Amino acid sequence: MLFFVFLNHKCNLTCRYCGETTHPITSMSNEVNYSIDELISFLAKDSNPIIAFYGGEPLLNLSLMEEIMDKIPDACFVVQTNGTNLHKVKSTILTRIHSILVSIDGNQNITDYYRGQGTFQKITRNMSIIRQKGFDGDLIARMTISSKSDIYRDVHDLISIKNPSFDHIHWQLDVIWNDENQWGDFEKWINESYNPGITKLINEWVEEMTRNRSVQGIIPFLGIMKTLLIDTPSKLRCGAGIDAFAIQTNGEIFACPVCPEFEEFKVGNILADEPDGIYNSLPVISPCLECEILKICGGRCLFANRHNLWGESFKLVCKTVQHLITELNRIKPKIEELSRRNIISIDSFNYPQFNNSCEIIP
Ligand code: SF4
Ligand code: SF4
Repeated sequence: MLFFVFLNHKCNLTCRYCGETTHPITSMSNEVNYSIDELISFLAKDSNPIIAFYGGEPLLNLSLMEEIMDKIPDACFVVQTNGTNLHKVKSTILTRIHSILVSIDGNQNITDYYRGQGTFQKITRNMSIIRQKGFDGDLIARMTISSKSDIYRDVHDLISIKNPSFDHIHWQLDVIWNDENQWGDFEKWINESYNPGITKLINEWVEEMTRNRSVQGIIPFLGIMKTLLIDTPSKLRCGAGIDAFAIQTNGEIFACPVCPEFEEFKVGNILADEPDGIYNSLPVISPCLECEILKICGGRCLFANRHNLWGESFKLVCKTVQHLITELNRIKPKIEELSRRNIISIDSFNYPQFNNSCEIIP
């Protein structure tokens, strides 16, 4: 199972859209206040734990991260970080991390606008440093797509970063948990910017396969295309409430990392519960259960599904999912043809190998 382990609730940045910036978490302590042996004892009961270090900014508590890694040496490790302190991680630690998800929104202008002046430079400098120090795992750009984003431009700009480059690019829409008003006219943005940008990116994605025999690591495209190709229904892809849980700084377990202030998402406590006992404890409910593309979408986001803060505008977010799936379905025959001609391998769409905390559906 995947466990997000909060190492703190502190951060050295004040990103414009971040929940910790706009509505600081008051119900949780900034620092971990359970004993690490209690955490280890809980995680040891899972046969195959994936530990995603999370915060706040987890790398502000490197010593705790190292202690946990030392005490559970065989777990699979993932880090979600703003990237500004990556240069401080020791080589011996970096080489044991499977995936690093770095928050970045596109080029320097858009990244620094949302995340603060100088952030882009620090991230790209640190990408080089961690590669030089031996990190050979999956380096993932994790974008937040908000009202000033242009999905086509921003994904393109991230693909253009070289030496080192990102292995994969993923994004989440800044929707439902933030104020809808910050979007202005959200529907217009979908119709005039986001959905057309997705179409352009998908067209270029398949052109690249033909031209260079390579499948670019655009995670939402990979994950959905895999489902379309193998024609197998998908569960909620982030796994929240099924096999992905967040362990808060006080040891309470929530179905998802973004909702420590919503009691309905609390499913247990590391002192009282075991992984088997919380498995599949909070399923997706209506309206997703009645949706005709549920088997491909999976329900998108458990938090939005169960705690829809946007009312009717929930359907606008679904419009983006519908468009993405329709467009990927459109190019599916082309991909099958490229595979038959041995230009690309169907295995290229086999991503992720395990739940590495990329939710697939933006
Ligand atoms: S498209 Fe919307 S309603 Fe349908 S499953 Fe996904 S999130 Fe739920
Ligand atoms: S997609 Fe939604 S439910 Fe899943 S981890 Fe992200 S915020 Fe939580």
